[in-house]
Amino acid sequence: MFTEDEIKRYQRHFNINGWGEETQLKLKNASVFVAGAGGLGSVVLYYLVSAGVGKISFCDSDVVDISNLNRQILYGTEDIGKDKVTSATARLSALNKSVELLPVKGIIGDDSIEYIADCDLIIDCVDNFETRHVLNRISLEKKKPMLHAGVTEYYCQLTLLIPGETPCLGCFIPDGAPPSGKGIIGAMAGIAGSIEAMEAIKFLSGVGESLAGRLLFIDMKNLSFSTMNIKKNPGCKICSGTGV
Ligand SMILES: [Zn+2]
Repeated sequence: MFTEDEIKRYQRHFNINGWGEETQLKLKNASVFVAGAGGLGSVVLYYLVSAGVGKISFCDSDVVDISNLNRQILYGTEDIGKDKVTSATARLSALNKSVELLPVKGIIGDDSIEYIADCDLIIDCVDNFETRHVLNRISLEKKKPMLHAGVTEYYCQLTLLIPGETPCLGCFIPDGAPPSGKGIIGAMAGIAGSIEAMEAIKFLSGVGESLAGRLLFIDMKNLSFSTMNIKKNPGCKICSGTGV
């Protein structure tokens, strides 16, 4: 079931009470699509590769810029000017070769639809609501759950969107909402990305309680964590009338 190397590599998982080989196997058999390899994506990709999620496709169209390096921890100064997906693939394969990586340099949606259609979970690591709404529509159309995270300055929000069960993104953030600011402390992307990676691991392994139907809001300026229940909006222009 697992090689000797994998048994050693995931030893600290197996040391967790109740985490057996069958739990680790769920991760190994899982397939995720990570939208974006920036501040959130760097952390999510790193932890999902280190955790042994079997198949990870990820998409980004950018090259590394020096202004990315305060938070995008997959990259170093030597990567400036290189494609993010190429640098990320090199770094992630060096971490764990047993994970199948499917990098896509391109537009989230158009250039990656076949990977999204094939995944068990879409992970939103993008930096703008326009692209998030594209992902939300694909999530509804393909009936794929989507882990949403948004982060700015000292704040972040996260939830798990499950078509047919929970609200969609448009139920609580209307399409066309004004963009959030671009300022961010790197550690904030680390916090949001780590929670997003943790929620993905829980969802894929079937462990614990998810954020489905609840929006987690973190304000690190005042060190406050809160959750609120979110419900489907019957007037949602995106999911109402679609039958999901
Ligand atoms: Zn909706």
